[in-house]
Amino acid sequence: MDHSADQPAAQAAPRIRIVLVGTQHPGNIGSAARAMKTMGLSRLVLVAPERFPHPEARALAAGADDLLDAATVHAGLAAAVADCTLVLGCTARSRRVPLPESGPREAAAAMHAHAAAGGEVALVFGRERTGLDNDELQLCHGAVHIPADPGYSSLNLAAAVQVLAWELRAAMLAGGSAPAGAPRDPPASHAELEGLFAQLADTLDAIDFHKGRAPESAMRKLRRIYLRAGLDVREVRLLRGVLADAQRMARLARGGGDASE
Ligand code: SAH
Repeated sequence: MDHSADQPAAQAAPRIRIVLVGTQHPGNIGSAARAMKTMGLSRLVLVAPERFPHPEARALAAGADDLLDAATVHAGLAAAVADCTLVLGCTARSRRVPLPESGPREAAAAMHAHAAAGGEVALVFGRERTGLDNDELQLCHGAVHIPADPGYSSLNLAAAVQVLAWELRAAMLAGGSAPAGAPRDPPASHAELEGLFAQLADTLDAIDFHKGRAPESAMRKLRRIYLRAGLDVREVRLLRGVLADAQRMARLARGGGDASE
């Protein structure tokens, strides 16, 4: 059999992980593994599953047990995506989240391009009953919505995984290798961006940006701006250098510290 068409998929697929958050029914974990394996995806990551491992997961995996055996389990989403440079959250509720939203095809093309260029990609799915919560969506660069019938738009979890896994497969088969263009610095990981956000929050306090207002709303908007920018590691270093100087000047203005620290 000719497997040459699988080559692009083989290149990008190992850098794309499917993350299931708080899954309630173990059967859905098995069905999601099966959906992934048929489309050449193998990295399953579970965040606080209610019941796992479980015989129902194994029964519904129907031969995709190797994905269940290799699945990693994390207590929270942040740890599961810490090394990722692109994180997309799938949501059944269109336009109710403050994130740039795309459809499955567009999202799959972006994920494939990102992974083929060497980035680590996470595609995140929520709980059967309640989806992803706001804190989890805050960790995502964008939302993906399958434009199902608006009157009945919530797919079964594993069915949603199947739709996205197929679109990824199609993008990988059509897409070829890494996009052309000048070599870039590696994209910043989630953990690196969280470091930037923590320093930004400290700096805003130090320069009294909030003036008594609650900081959450401004931080949410600033996070969106920086996540949208697709920063690379060098850009994050530059921004952190700017913040470090602002922090130093704020200390000086308060009459404390050594300005040359
Ligand atoms: N009642 C939940 C639906 C959860 S369905 C809610 O209102 O959010 C379980 C998961 O499957 C969702 O969190 C999402 O990740 C995925 N999903 C279901 N339908 C989807 C759709 N139309 N588009 C994108 N993802 C969907």
